[in-house]
Amino acid sequence: MKCKVCPIGCELVISKNHSSPHVYTLEGNSCNRGFEFDIKEMIEPSRILTGRVMLKNGNMKRLPVKTTGVVPKDKVDEIMFILNNTEVSAPIKRGDVIIKNILGLGVDVIAARKVKSNSLT
Ligand code: SF4
Repeated sequence: MKCKVCPIGCELVISKNHSSPHVYTLEGNSCNRGFEFDIKEMIEPSRILTGRVMLKNGNMKRLPVKTTGVVPKDKVDEIMFILNNTEVSAPIKRGDVIIKNILGLGVDVIAARKVKSNSLT
């Protein structure tokens, strides 16, 4: 896999130790910064998630949103379902919390941009 921690993108080989199944070895890394992240990414893939929620009273129909931290890959479909069924009303400020602590994962879904209200002059 490719290390995603910095733009260099080292090609990594992560191997499981057969006598100690919870011990991994890493080759191909130019530094140790990516070690923990890359091992975790292999065992339990996670993502900063971006999506859109329905928006009313604004100059667009959908508001771009993102999570404030990584979420497990196996929760992505559930979160996308929630986002697709969430509606907010403008005005919205960039960074406004749209959904607090989604699915109890300890991350929020926040607005990725500012939208003015249509009713404001
Ligand atoms: S191993 Fe280090 S240098 Fe290589 S991509 Fe990851 S963080 Fe960057």
